Amino acid sequence: MYGFIGAVCAAIPAQPLLGAGGTQTPKMLTRKIKLWDINAHITCRLCNGYLIDATTVTECLHTFCRSCLVKYLEENNTCPTCRIVIHQSHPLQYIGHDRTMQDIVYKLVPGLQEAEMKKQREFYHKLGMEVPGDIKGETCSAKQHLDSHRNGETKTDENSNKETSEEKQEEDNDYHRSDEQVSICLECNSSKLRGLKRKWIRCSAQATVLHLKKFIAKKLNLSSFNELDILCNEEILGKDHTLKFVVVTRWRFKKAPLLLHYRPKMDLL
Ligand SMILES: [Zn+2]
Ligand SMILES: [Zn+2]
Repeated sequence: MYGFIGAVCAAIPAQPLLGAGGTQTPKMLTRKIKLWDINAHITCRLCNGYLIDATTVTECLHTFCRSCLVKYLEENNTCPTCRIVIHQSHPLQYIGHDRTMQDIVYKLVPGLQEAEMKKQREFYHKLGMEVPGDIKGETCSAKQHLDSHRNGETKTDENSNKETSEEKQEEDNDYHRSDEQVSICLECNSSKLRGLKRKWIRCSAQATVLHLKKFIAKKLNLSSFNELDILCNEEILGKDHTLKFVVVTRWRFKKAPLLLHYRPKMDLL
């Protein structure tokens, strides 16, 4: 991950006459810009704070904090800035994390990233959840999250060469293990299906309800994941919701793990 860089001013190449002096490289003179002048470009219109978890509407490229935008789109399907219809029914599928913008905001605003990481760590501690690797302030120990599939696939013996190549492979593709993680309890609330042997699971916050359906269907040997409904607080969850979205919108102030129920799909027609 990128390091924390606090800088009060952005340094950009400028015309020699505006430059600050002759001791630096002659051609790359710099001009200082007040943070105030660029604030409008790095703040969220919904909360008026600096962008956190910058998320951009793919249609119009307007950017907001992720949590602000997700909350807004619970009730609306238009962009808060330009009012364009993002999508009639699934606006959340047409927004995306804007890494570049977030990097810029963190580089420009002194202390912001540090403060945000601290806030997130405290949030996880308060909920008794494990702090995800990317906000621990240290490198993520992806090895702790090895799943059985991967174990069976690559870890046939314990010799050190194998370990090294496996580590290298993990760096290339960590199967979302360095993502933010969610702890979930999957309970069955129907007499027609059996419970899971292991109902406590932990997975990437980017996984969707559909992933969970497929997981349960596989564990219970169901012919199709379509036979299932997954519920949170007795409300059926849309298959495209990410678990992050479910936690933020339905489990925000509750203790981990996120409690979800599954049951056979009820045909209302
Ligand atoms: Zn915001
Ligand atoms: Zn817009």
